[in-house]
Amino acid sequence: MQLPTTSLTIRDVAERQLCCGCGACAAVAPRHIRMVDALEYGRRPLVSDAAGAAELADALRVCPGIGLERPATETNGLIGELLPAWGPILDAWEGFATDEELRYCGSSGAAASALALLCVEQLGAHGVLHIAARPDAPYLNHTVLSTTREQVLAATGSRYAPASPCDGLQMVLDAPGPCVFIGKPCDVAAVAKARRLRPELDRKLALTISIFCAATPSTRGTLDLLGKLGVPDPADVVELRYRGRGWPGQFEVAFRTPGGIERRSMSYEAAWDHLQRYRQWRCNLCPDHTGEFADVSVGDPWYRTRGEGEIGHSLVIARTPAGRQAIEQARAAGVMELSRVGPEVFRGLSPYQPRVLGMLWGRLAALWLLRAPRPRFRGLPLARHWWFALGIRPKMQSVLGTIKRVWRRRLHARHPVSEFASRPAGGPEATVGIDLRAVSAASQE
Ligand SMILES: Cc1cc2nc3c(=O)[nH]c(=O)nc-3n(C[C@H](O)[C@H](O)[C@H](O)COP(=O)(O)OP(=O)(O)OC[C@H]3O[C@@H](n4cnc5c(N)ncnc54)[C@H](O)[C@@H]3O)c2cc1C
Ligand code: SF4
Ligand code: SF4
Repeated sequence: MQLPTTSLTIRDVAERQLCCGCGACAAVAPRHIRMVDALEYGRRPLVSDAAGAAELADALRVCPGIGLERPATETNGLIGELLPAWGPILDAWEGFATDEELRYCGSSGAAASALALLCVEQLGAHGVLHIAARPDAPYLNHTVLSTTREQVLAATGSRYAPASPCDGLQMVLDAPGPCVFIGKPCDVAAVAKARRLRPELDRKLALTISIFCAATPSTRGTLDLLGKLGVPDPADVVELRYRGRGWPGQFEVAFRTPGGIERRSMSYEAAWDHLQRYRQWRCNLCPDHTGEFADVSVGDPWYRTRGEGEIGHSLVIARTPAGRQAIEQARAAGVMELSRVGPEVFRGLSPYQPRVLGMLWGRLAALWLLRAPRPRFRGLPLARHWWFALGIRPKMQSVLGTIKRVWRRRLHARHPVSEFASRPAGGPEATVGIDLRAVSAASQE
């Protein structure tokens, strides 16, 4: 049965795999919605049966999972040729944080952290709402409001695992001053919806920064990877980084053994090759991998090859005047070194948005044909990119591949959210424990 988005509830969004796990619904309806880790899917809202219709209506209004709308913007000053596929772009640079420790620990050139810190240390922002590894279970993430360099430094590095930074938006509302938000494109899109609903939130956001994002793998992906690396029990993990500490860095895990702390690692490329097979379904229907709803978006400059031993560089994109001002202030204050790049570099970026939008049109068409749940997108030229940006084979693949996935992923069925609770180290009193030796290597794709 086709699911008209007008009659969807937050529970439908989660159980019908339209959820991207941002956490915004829990921020606007905290008495009735709680974000939990769902092992095979990602961060998901658990909705109480007592939830009131009005609160849940607000939750749906801020949900990016059901769909997105690109607002009609004043095109003055925007790079016209990039607008259809990449969203609003005023200017772009390649560069890095001049704070060497930050740059080394950062995922790319630590642009996200450097810009956020500039706002806190020099431009009057109170803190940065973003995500970090959970100290009690470092293979999971939680949302934090960082107010010091040490806290921002501790949260550097992309985490290829479920994270719901919007579930902490109340911390921004409670803060004594404006804050910076860092998240993935869908997280930032949720913030854009939430600030329209709540003007008080709009006033408290100094800057939004989006990191590029190809897909979020499930927690199962990370646990299987730990199993491959021979880590016997995730409860013994004391540190886990997906990249950073070099560019792009390595997947690194430290865990307790009877003989002391042991470390294992794997190349970033091999880890991503494994993890991306566990991507949540909604990422296949994502129209925005580069953060078009943010003031600033940052990614890897993968339009060029990385030099031998080269340390981190970021592609930094100004999408709004506020974003451009922050970037120019970072350069003027010596916080970042930046060189302007032209629109031609976008031809070599990954993900490549013209192809993403084209494939998305084919996928949505297949879901429509099969009456399977699908998000709605407005203001995005999807059909045009399907027609002009794809060859015959990918055109067919976008439709036929999706038809196969509808059955393989059981997209017609409901997938109730069940909470995965991490197990304390060494404790037999596990709520939900997991023995990595027994974890199946089967991926979701
Ligand atoms: C799931 C995922 C997919 C990615 N896919 C791509 C890609 O396709 N192309 C590409 O160029 N780059 C991708 N990246 C990497 C990322 O966009 C770049 O490394 C970006 O340049 C950020 O680097 P930085 O050095 O500026 O960040 P840093 O200064 O190291 O800061 C990283 C910031 O991101 C936040 N963060 C980390 N993980 C998450 C998360 N899972 N959810 C929300 N916030 C998070 C941290 O809290 C921190 O504030 C991906 C990252 C993730 C997490
Ligand atoms: S996409 Fe975000 S707002 Fe929508 S249901 Fe999922 S967590 Fe909630
Ligand atoms: S691919 Fe899109 S939907 Fe998936 S996590 Fe990244 S930004 Fe969100």
